[in-house]
Amino acid sequence: SLSDKLQNVFKKLRSKGVLTEDDVKEAMKEVKRALLEADVNFKVVKSFVKSVSDRAVGEEVLKGLNPGHMVIKIVKEEMDKLMGSEMTEIKLRPSNEITIIMMCGLQGAGKTTTAAKLAYQFKNKGKKPLLVACDVYRPAAIKQLQVNGEKVGVPVFAMGDNNKPLDIAKAAIQHAAKNNINLVFLDTAGRLHVDEDMMNELAEIKENLDIAYTILTVDSMTGQDAVNVATTFNDKIGIDGVILTKLDGDTRGGAALSIKAVTGKPILYSGMGEKLTDLEPFYPDRMASRILGMGDVESLIEKAQSAIDEEKAKEMEQKFRKASFDFNDFLDQMAQLEQMGGMQEILSMMPGMASQMKNVEIDENAAKTPKAIVLSMTPRERSLQDPISPSRKKRIADGAGVQIADVNRFLKQFEQSKKMMKQMSGMMGGKRKRGGFK
Ligand code: GDP
Ligand code: MG
Repeated sequence: SLSDKLQNVFKKLRSKGVLTEDDVKEAMKEVKRALLEADVNFKVVKSFVKSVSDRAVGEEVLKGLNPGHMVIKIVKEEMDKLMGSEMTEIKLRPSNEITIIMMCGLQGAGKTTTAAKLAYQFKNKGKKPLLVACDVYRPAAIKQLQVNGEKVGVPVFAMGDNNKPLDIAKAAIQHAAKNNINLVFLDTAGRLHVDEDMMNELAEIKENLDIAYTILTVDSMTGQDAVNVATTFNDKIGIDGVILTKLDGDTRGGAALSIKAVTGKPILYSGMGEKLTDLEPFYPDRMASRILGMGDVESLIEKAQSAIDEEKAKEMEQKFRKASFDFNDFLDQMAQLEQMGGMQEILSMMPGMASQMKNVEIDENAAKTPKAIVLSMTPRERSLQDPISPSRKKRIADGAGVQIADVNRFLKQFEQSKKMMKQMSGMMGGKRKRGGFK
């Protein structure tokens, strides 16, 4: 799937401590291929890859800490942007007016189902909806709407199949006005393909009635076709937004990624199943996360962000320099390490470290004993004001539930790592002077 392919590209990027422009170019070629295979519109892919590349080959990314994660962060941000960044809400008219929403789309795209899903959601928000059966071509269509209406407890207005859709809609609006109804969904007829009659019928309704929203439903599983359909509907009758149905079965994400970019119209909701509760507002950033492999990527981005938290880095560097690093700082570091995913991860984020660290296994559990030892120290011991005498060692060992030998070993390691940190702070300082430490 698209996620798997992108994850592989990212894995390669992350395994490199240092990135060159060529690495980024290579990765972008793979991203491009994966997107095209996922049926994302060709033009969209081209401009997307260009935006990402332009940002990713910048000095501050390549020379910064952790460039692999930065590139992933950029991909994610550009994907959000592609899909419109923000969730778009349907804005209804004030409750004393009638909001008319016209559902349109090809046959089987999900108009009837989605109309009922929407009506249900707005009913739960205190609106008074009505479903109107304007599909007079398929015999079962009216019945289907009635069944769905009953399921969600929303009235259905139908006049059989002997009337023009426009006349049915007009009668429905009169009915709504008399019955205190303020939200009307017109369930129109689709065709198997884009068709002149269908477009004319929709255009006629739009011209004669005060339609607040023309919503197109498209089947996400049809990929680029969904985008072509959206373009045609938008050109012919003008749409205000799209509902992407059957996203529960879509593993490619092509339609989701292309529609906003190609038509300029936002995706409003996504259909996530056949049940009438399976409709979710469309959040571009969540969709991007899903395409990129979900929580995984989110947490990597968070890590990248904390890794560039300059304030903290500066403060620590100062401490390393002065070698004033004490047991309290040790505890702070441990907490940060835990937050960031452990020693292995941190070291792999440092430029040039990843390749050296590849074969080193770090036992994260082993870190628990030092923490316990420090927690058994008094405040004055932690801030190095009281040297740790043999009797104190015994007390600390008992408190931590370890042997005196363990305490000795830890103290020795602590001194060693202090020395190492002092050396490392020299390295980091050098890096900063070149302007790359951001
Ligand atoms: P219409 O011809 O545009 O009115 O489409 P329908 O509302 O009749 O839907 C066609 C089929 O798609 C029905 O079997 C629906 O249950 C199914 N369907 C609609 N939306 C979704 C969705 O979001 N997920 C899934 N899995 N099925 C859906
Ligand atoms: Mg229908």
